[in-house]
Amino acid sequence: MAKVKHIGVYPGTFDPMTRGHLDIIERGLNLFDQLIVAVAGSQSKSPLFDVDERLEIIGEEIKGYGNVRVEGFDGLLIEYMRKKKARTVLRGLRVISDFEYEFQMALINRKLDPGVETVFMMTAENYAAVSSRFIKEIARLGGDVGAFVTPGVAGRLKEKYERLKGQ
Ligand code: ADP
Repeated sequence: MAKVKHIGVYPGTFDPMTRGHLDIIERGLNLFDQLIVAVAGSQSKSPLFDVDERLEIIGEEIKGYGNVRVEGFDGLLIEYMRKKKARTVLRGLRVISDFEYEFQMALINRKLDPGVETVFMMTAENYAAVSSRFIKEIARLGGDVGAFVTPGVAGRLKEKYERLKGQ
């Protein structure tokens, strides 16, 4: 009998992808046969990068790994999980303040589909303070974000803010 593939889904906004996200992906790969990084449109958060840009950025960062891919999704995560036949949501935890939001979301998702489990991975201590929000703020003000994002993402941020300033 063929072994059932254990598919994990790592959902998020990834606006843009940070070294913290990448670390969760690298470690998450060891937990699943296949990991899908699922990029939410998150229009309510007014993202800096549109979904296609975020997909492209993540695609470039993960191309060295065999068992991870990136996809966009809209609507309910639980519906997306069903479509992908995935039973496990992967999320990262940094500071205590992440906990409340993550806890609520995990409980709601469990109510919507008790068969879906959420697992949390602790941030690497180097990345505990790394968030897309602060990185965008630093980049917007012309600071060096090299410690928090890959050179590719740093370049994208620079380009984006230069273009926005020129408008
Ligand atoms: P969302 O809008 O879904 O919160 P994010 O892109 O901000 O999307 O985060 C996606 C997931 O990655 C969340 O579970 C978040 O806690 C986690 N995450 C973000 N940054 C880090 C980091 N530096 N270390 C560990 N986990 C992180």
